[in-house]
Amino acid sequence: MKKFSRIASALIFTIQAFLSTPVAVWANELPSVKESTEQVQKSVDTTETKESSSESSSDSSTEEPSESSTTSSSESSKESSSSVTKSSESTTPSGQDNSKKEESKEESSKQEEPKQEEPKQEEPKQENSTAPSIQETQEVPDQINQEATVELSRTVPASLVTQDGSIHFEKDESVETFIRKIGESARKIGKEKDLYASVMIAQAILESASGQSQLAQAPNYNLFGIKGSHNGKSVSMATQEDFGNGTLYATQSGFRVYENYEDCFTDYATLLKEGLTGDSNYYSGVWKSNTDTYQEATKFLTGRYATDTQYDQKLNGLIETYDLTYYDKELQGPEISSAGYKVPIRNYTISSQYGNRGSEFHRGLDMAARQGEPIHAVKSGTVIKAEYHNSWGNVVAIQHEDGSTALYAHQQQYAVKVGDKVSQSQLIGYVGSTGNSTGSHLHFELCRDNSLDQGMLIDPQTVLFDN
Ligand SMILES: [Zn+2]
Repeated sequence: MKKFSRIASALIFTIQAFLSTPVAVWANELPSVKESTEQVQKSVDTTETKESSSESSSDSSTEEPSESSTTSSSESSKESSSSVTKSSESTTPSGQDNSKKEESKEESSKQEEPKQEEPKQEEPKQENSTAPSIQETQEVPDQINQEATVELSRTVPASLVTQDGSIHFEKDESVETFIRKIGESARKIGKEKDLYASVMIAQAILESASGQSQLAQAPNYNLFGIKGSHNGKSVSMATQEDFGNGTLYATQSGFRVYENYEDCFTDYATLLKEGLTGDSNYYSGVWKSNTDTYQEATKFLTGRYATDTQYDQKLNGLIETYDLTYYDKELQGPEISSAGYKVPIRNYTISSQYGNRGSEFHRGLDMAARQGEPIHAVKSGTVIKAEYHNSWGNVVAIQHEDGSTALYAHQQQYAVKVGDKVSQSQLIGYVGSTGNSTGSHLHFELCRDNSLDQGMLIDPQTVLFDN
């Protein structure tokens, strides 16, 4: 079953990548170079299907809160070993499966994710209505290099451009999954750099085809199609560029490679803060301190970052539909000090840390230990969950007096029940590997409240250990 979905998703990804819309590419480090006004067409690298399949299947499985560190790290290393020679942004796929791709062209755009089989009714209509309204000619500054023919439905599933040119979005699960992956990084960098996380996330959705572009995925994490190299790392991709007179030619371009999405947001934010060579205020109109609303920022970007005259409408629509202003806010919640928490198991090694782990967000701290190793409550509190969960396996959650909640997943067996009052260090269960887990370990999460929402989680290491 899993294998099948991998194969299916590989095929879908391949097809989709071939057709999907060009990415906006910045080349602000090369302001005088002609290529910067070209378009980058996403398309296929015929050799890439395996990697993208393992990537997308791993993505879809990691929506769930728990996972094992071993699988994902082996997956990402597989990715990186094969990645450098990728040329996913190629012009015309050479070779055999060309015709197959052509055939599947029509259906491909809506299948952003293997799950979404249900047809979107706008599909045929949109071919006609979007193209004229969104096509532009390039009349932007050199350094901005925006594609002309954004076909929105291929970039954002469940989107629709009507005949009169207005844009509508409906919530789509694959987009929501992508937002969850990048949201907290955007929140953090937005706060640090005086930028709207909501706007950056919406841009990332548009520029990376909701995370589906090869460039946006592991091991590149380039969400914005930024050219050049980053910390000496670059990936070469075949692109179509424009001589400046509308004549396209095929060439290779180097794109920045990032460690993870946060690294990418940091770099992008730096560009927005530092502007262009010779004009450091070039993007000052998007800074939070220079605007009252995110709408001012998206307006400012239109015609400046992107030639697309509807760029702000698209960003605003995405921000509203997906409630992205949630990421503009600072997280609230009781402060948790390092005092008062105890490490839950005695014999362990940390096998995965909290936070960004490749393309996914790891919600907790993984502590590898032998099966049956006793688990102790980190703090006194009340058991609010003691059950079997598909992903977490045997899981216990304990709410502490300060309102924070600890979650202990993948237990072999638990030793408490809902409603129990437990004291600090009380035995609550045993380490195992139940649920979605590989290898015996405790997946430990700590949340500011009892919601266990990702946005309220904190890094357990910051409170469990004295620094
Ligand atoms: Zn884990």
